[in-house]
Amino acid sequence: MAQEIYYKNEAYMYSNTYIWMEKVKIDINSNLTSSYSKTLSEYKELLNQIKDIGIKSDIYNSIIESIIEFSRKNNDIETLLFYTEKKLEVLESKIKMNLNTSTIYATNKFENDSIKSRVDIMKKRNGFYLMVILLVLIILIIIYRKNQKIKDLNNKLEKTSITDALTTLNNKRYIYKVFEDIYLDKEEITFIIIDVDCFKLYNDNYGHLEGDNVLRQLGITLKDVFYDDIPCRYGGEEFVILSRLDKNDIIPKLDILMKKIYDLNIEHIYSTASDKITVSIGAERMKITTKEDINLLIKLADEKLYISKENGRN
Ligand code: GH3
Ligand code: MG
Ligand code: MG
Repeated sequence: MAQEIYYKNEAYMYSNTYIWMEKVKIDINSNLTSSYSKTLSEYKELLNQIKDIGIKSDIYNSIIESIIEFSRKNNDIETLLFYTEKKLEVLESKIKMNLNTSTIYATNKFENDSIKSRVDIMKKRNGFYLMVILLVLIILIIIYRKNQKIKDLNNKLEKTSITDALTTLNNKRYIYKVFEDIYLDKEEITFIIIDVDCFKLYNDNYGHLEGDNVLRQLGITLKDVFYDDIPCRYGGEEFVILSRLDKNDIIPKLDILMKKIYDLNIEHIYSTASDKITVSIGAERMKITTKEDINLLIKLADEKLYISKENGRN
């Protein structure tokens, strides 16, 4: 009946099923038949058939077991010993195989664990380095920004220190800086002092704020005419121009300046020089070779201004 079922479903059976069936058949027959040697040779034949499958297969072990049992029942000591030895071989080989598998598993596990822990350490280390790099970058950016701010502030301070707040012209401090350069270059320079006429009277009569306004307008006019030179507010109602132009070029420019100031049309009926705001001018040109030359140049220009004032101003 088992055979019938097998042949009907052969396509779905395991490849070993046929041998199992053969074995069961011999097992059954071994209890029925009286021929010991025939049954034994059937078992041996089956063993030969499954040689290819190898001694590790369950069917092989099962046939060995059957032979041992069968030979023991029939008192065939020689066969019993032979197949018992075979069984021991099978057991030994199984133990070895298990041992190998365990060793491979343990080795793999150890290697995996150590690789994993190494990767973890590397990850942690990389994270740490990244943090340090980020921190250093942030610190560098902060330092850079602070330095930039300090630079900007210094520039602003530098500019403020040499700029006159009221007229936005350069101030006296700047004039002395320029003088230093000229002194080093040992150049000829024209120094012009421009002084507002009767400005005290203007303040007294039109008010100090109006006076400030006049100074602002004069500043704009100076920049307008002497755009190529260095117009500065020297202090109070006095202005200075430092120019590389010589006498021949500077006098026409000063004429233009006087005209432009008059055209500002700022009423000053209390002035002794005119009915409008006017200025008096003193100028000197010199080669600056020593520090004393600077003082001398200023003194000589001032003397010229004094002469201008003495001669009716404007
Ligand atoms: P002179 O023609 O001889 O130069 O007579 P002056 O009145 O212009 O000269 P003085 O030196 O007697 O007076 C200068 C005046 O300039 C006195 C001061 O009130 C005025 N002054 C100086 N600085 C400023 C300023 O920043 N704003 C205003 N509004 N007035 C100023
Ligand atoms: Mg003055
Ligand atoms: Mg004056």
